[in-house]
Amino acid sequence: MDILQAIHDWAIGFFGLDEVIRIIQSGDYGSLRTLKGILSIIGPLFPIFLVLEFLIACLYRKFKVMEYKIPFFSYVLNAFIGRFISIAAVAYIIGVFSSYAIFKTSFTWYWLLYGYIVWEFGHFIYHFLAHKVRLLWCLHSTHHAPENMNLAVSYAHFFLEAPYADVIRTSTCILLGVNPTLLFLIMFIDGFWGGFIHIGETLGKKARCGPLFNYILTPSHHRVHHGRNPLYMDTNFCNLLNIWDRVFGTYQPESDTVPIDYGITRPMIKNSFTDAYFGEIVFLAKDVARAPGIKNKFLYLVMPPGWSHTGVHKTARVVRDAALHAEGLKLKA
Ligand SMILES: [Zn+2]
Ligand SMILES: [Zn+2]
Repeated sequence: MDILQAIHDWAIGFFGLDEVIRIIQSGDYGSLRTLKGILSIIGPLFPIFLVLEFLIACLYRKFKVMEYKIPFFSYVLNAFIGRFISIAAVAYIIGVFSSYAIFKTSFTWYWLLYGYIVWEFGHFIYHFLAHKVRLLWCLHSTHHAPENMNLAVSYAHFFLEAPYADVIRTSTCILLGVNPTLLFLIMFIDGFWGGFIHIGETLGKKARCGPLFNYILTPSHHRVHHGRNPLYMDTNFCNLLNIWDRVFGTYQPESDTVPIDYGITRPMIKNSFTDAYFGEIVFLAKDVARAPGIKNKFLYLVMPPGWSHTGVHKTARVVRDAALHAEGLKLKA
């Protein structure tokens, strides 16, 4: 009975149904008109989409259990460790940094827009550094390890990544005056959209979201971010509003002539959770051990993945610039 109760409690938590059940049991349907009520309805949509995608894949016999292995084990580890560190870090930052905010904002639509632009800036900083600093790439590479795309990929994260991301994003928002209530709403929207952009081709073939493609970051843009094609490497770092990618020159739409090849560039042990989770840490440790001198050892930790003390670099920038140069030559010919 205890096991059944535990499964029941996990399912309620996973689908985020607590508030919906409370509303149904109490008959308090008026609360659906409040912000909390609306969020309680939106919350379960992502897990429902995930199950739907899973069922459709089964129906069309496209379901491969191995595609879900890395996200599944990551989800389990994060549920037990990462989540609690993250919550503690966010609470600590709000408590400490609030008094240093440059000004105060209130709960209005225009401050929500301001808050979201600031949040995206924090997200851009976290995500950009996660790709450009090798030590941080060790935390982020788990998310890029899956060689296919489906909603479960949004669960594939190293357990320390969420705390690191939340420290950067929350500090940026609190210092720039985003009040905590706005921040929690923004985190909710970001969490929902951040999951949804991993929708697989079974549920959305192109997933360009029609005319919205030109204004927001769609699943198509995020698929590009997961591509290891030279043209796509280290682009589209934003989550919902891709203004900062446009400002900093990292915006890249999906090309009809370059099909996305998902995954990271080094050869991986196929569908290995341990390789996806710890592989980059092992390779970094080997490079540091081999590097001559303290300076080179330190540089391996902070320089982008692909940097080498020999001077022959294979960073995303070098690879992408070479691809763009070759493309330019092809167009001229
Ligand atoms: Zn990334
Ligand atoms: Zn992703």
